[in-house]
Amino acid sequence: MEERRGRRIIMFPLPFAGHFNPMIELAGIFHHRGFSVTILHTSYNFPDPSRHPHFTFRSIPHNKEGEEDPLSQSETSSMDLIVLMLRLKQCYAETFRQSLAEEVGGEETVCCLVSDAIWGKITEVVAEEIGVRRVVLRTGGASSFCAFAAYPLLRDKGYLPIQDSRLDELVTELLPLKVKDLPVIETKEPEELYRVVNDMVEGAKSSSGVIWNTFEDLERLSLMDCSNKLQVPFFPIGPFHKHSDDHPLKTKNKDDDKTTCWLDKQDPQSVVYASFGSLAAIEEKEFLEIAWGLRNSKLPFLWVVRPGMVRGTEWLESLPCGFLEDIGHKGKIVKWVNQLEVLAHPAVGAFWTHCGWNSTLESICEGVPMICTPCFSDQHVNARYIVDVWRVGMVLERSKMEMKEIENALRSVMMEKGDELRERSLKLKESADFCLTKDGSSSKNLEKLVSHVLSFDS
Ligand code: UDP
Repeated sequence: MEERRGRRIIMFPLPFAGHFNPMIELAGIFHHRGFSVTILHTSYNFPDPSRHPHFTFRSIPHNKEGEEDPLSQSETSSMDLIVLMLRLKQCYAETFRQSLAEEVGGEETVCCLVSDAIWGKITEVVAEEIGVRRVVLRTGGASSFCAFAAYPLLRDKGYLPIQDSRLDELVTELLPLKVKDLPVIETKEPEELYRVVNDMVEGAKSSSGVIWNTFEDLERLSLMDCSNKLQVPFFPIGPFHKHSDDHPLKTKNKDDDKTTCWLDKQDPQSVVYASFGSLAAIEEKEFLEIAWGLRNSKLPFLWVVRPGMVRGTEWLESLPCGFLEDIGHKGKIVKWVNQLEVLAHPAVGAFWTHCGWNSTLESICEGVPMICTPCFSDQHVNARYIVDVWRVGMVLERSKMEMKEIENALRSVMMEKGDELRERSLKLKESADFCLTKDGSSSKNLEKLVSHVLSFDS
């Protein structure tokens, strides 16, 4: 590892797993290149720093110090994501400014701030005021970013807000997307959704560069399109988690060992791994259809049910009496897994996913075919690309989540369509592997990123 003493990078992740994970992986990449890293993190969802001993963590308090936490579990559990984003910005804008000023005023030279693109304006204004360069990390894919960047046009042309009568219409300006694939989030504050998206796009335009957790062979056209729109230096250096073997999310706990032990007992490529990420919530009725669909498929399955994921319940209590005994060792239901470990396990034959960008990329990197049930935001765009462009998965629409449909989809991906999908998945995995070789695009882009960042204080 080269030494770059006195070169510190400050990172400001959004406090959700799908955003924190890639940021911490990026921190690992910078650390490996000799930078020191400070993570400024909201007190909301503050992570366990002992899991990431290479980095300095600073908790940013909410701006109502001394008062009750405005973002306590009981407050946030009923908020939609857009309202939660708004609150986060309101609660942390001022204290972020103070924390960043303190860090930049310290002894060590600070190269730059790397902030999650979704923080948008608040980081733009503060970084400018404090005089530190700002690079943006976009944790989603380039294809969905193109769709977000096209929001003004989509509104002008009447595609947004989405009308039920137009769901299957192609969006000719964003092929191969259909109207139903446009990245929206259900919210009681629709104007705020437009504002959050606009803030993200404008914040990227005014930045000193955008880092992407994607690779050129995967999203070449979309990256070109975004680059034309944003006109700032571009660094697609993904997949982040494949840069090094000792990356920060590889640590395992006892439950992970139990899961691996269960997977070790299954036949190669026999298991359906089902997980819908860290945020998506489902209704009890859907939960039961999924449970029966998995059971009736007669395939071994590993299913992540986060506590609170099923609306109105704590965990598994709505399963019918005897269900768990009935599935026996054939299925395993857990609260959380080390997904990177699971997808890399030879027993896993398919990933039933909500198509969050990290999950999509992680599956691609292990050559695992996907069953796509997108829920909101960029997940619909990712699903369209998985199914129609990269052709490494099948769609199972949320509106069709009935046990028979589920059983058919699972069996189709594991059996009838299995060989074909697996073959293409392995080809895509090869191109993911190649981009990180010495001559690969992501390795070269990382060199450019390091030089770019080092040029800031010269
Ligand atoms: N994840 C995990 N264990 C789980 C579920 C999710 O480690 O049981 C990780 C997964 O590997 C990914 C992240 O959480 O890195 C989820 O991000 P994604 O973009 O897929 O979805 P989101 O949670 O943002 O909807």
